[in-house]
Amino acid sequence: MPGLTTRFAPSPNGELHLGHAFAAITAHDFARRNKGAFLLRIEDIDGTRSRPELVQGIIDDLQWLGLGWDGEPLFQSQRIARYDAALHRLADAGLAYPCFCTRSQIAAAQAHKPAATGPDGPVYPGTCRDLPAGERQRRREAEPHCWRLDTARAMDRAGPLYWCDLDAGEQLARPGLFGDVIIARKDAPASYHLAATLDDAADGISHVVRGRDLFAATHVHRLLQALFGLPTPLYLHHALLAGPDGRKLSKSLGSAALSVLRRAGVNGRDLADDIRNNRLPAGISVMAD
Ligand code: GLU
Repeated sequence: MPGLTTRFAPSPNGELHLGHAFAAITAHDFARRNKGAFLLRIEDIDGTRSRPELVQGIIDDLQWLGLGWDGEPLFQSQRIARYDAALHRLADAGLAYPCFCTRSQIAAAQAHKPAATGPDGPVYPGTCRDLPAGERQRRREAEPHCWRLDTARAMDRAGPLYWCDLDAGEQLARPGLFGDVIIARKDAPASYHLAATLDDAADGISHVVRGRDLFAATHVHRLLQALFGLPTPLYLHHALLAGPDGRKLSKSLGSAALSVLRRAGVNGRDLADDIRNNRLPAGISVMAD
């Protein structure tokens, strides 16, 4: 298949752990098996959490695992003008609106009128969706705000959409599950959803290979692709690794960093081969779904 391209897209907000190694190996091997390209994209626009000093460690970890990528690493922080232009397109089309709510205001509104629960928790109650134009303009100049997609209106505009996961098959896109998702944050020029969708198209990603924890996010990405007239890649959402407690390995649970193993003299290529062959370290397993 000519032009098959995958990517690994870590966020430098913590050190890589075995779950990342599994994800990187899966995307890398998928590309290489298909004589395709494998790109490394550093998702470093998460204002408060992104730590530039971790980028070199990510590169060292991947090289230690024996994973080579094509071209130079790509950095989201160098693409901010592109995200901004895309946000303006959505706003000009009446499909995005500024939201001035604080977390506590949202929680209070949700307590008052229980909200549906989406993949990321209770959905936004829509407080700022229909503010009068004058008030919206005045507050935009005076108050910190994020930008939200008017998801119902955008779905209306786009019509029914589908995407395909190579394991799970064809999916009807259900971005409405998330309610009005944030597309640009108060502290970041674009949300994960907006930046990743634009980047996958800009980078010519034909196959998005990533963990099942991002399966639902693809519903939103499919909608954004339709709004911007971007191609829809194929997706492969792979299983996740779990720790001894059966829960997915994650930075926040303090899963052991690859750098600890690397510095302890573990052979990274051997570790990568063990992971490929499902010989996982004690206590680590592949989650059932
Ligand atoms: N940057 C995201 C993360 O580290 C991954 C994004 C993706 O693969 O789409 O979780």
